[in-house]
Amino acid sequence: MDELKKVFSCQRCGFCCHGETTVSLDLDDQQRMIAELGLSREEVTKKYWRITDGIVQMKTVDGHCIFYEDGCRVHRGRPWRCGQWPFVPAIIEDYDNYQIIKDSCPGINQEVSYQDFCRCVSEYMKKHVKIRC
Ligand code: SF4
Ligand code: SF4
Repeated sequence: MDELKKVFSCQRCGFCCHGETTVSLDLDDQQRMIAELGLSREEVTKKYWRITDGIVQMKTVDGHCIFYEDGCRVHRGRPWRCGQWPFVPAIIEDYDNYQIIKDSCPGINQEVSYQDFCRCVSEYMKKHVKIRC
């Protein structure tokens, strides 16, 4: 974990919570979010989710995730992909992805080399099974 802190420290800028779409929620995510919100599945679906062809995402409001408000309002129940960011396999697969993500995420240590960041992503992937999806 200390190694990760050397390459990344979230600045809570909220950039990754912005956009017209969000990450998708798998079944575990859905159940965790429902439990965290203390609502029924029907209520959560109606109030917070956008479902397209069976893919569950969070609704967006004013260009950001419905849960974003100076931080994540559902932090403990957030989807695993939110917690994973920016340690994503796409960075290892393509240097251009790294540049795009690095330019948009002020939490990434700008002094760290691409190779060192990829090493940390690989280490993270070993410990977080779902990152392999
Ligand atoms: S863009 Fe990066 S620094 Fe900003 S909130 Fe997201 S992970 Fe944190
Ligand atoms: S669930 Fe939380 S961390 Fe994920 S996009 Fe929405 S506000 Fe951001």
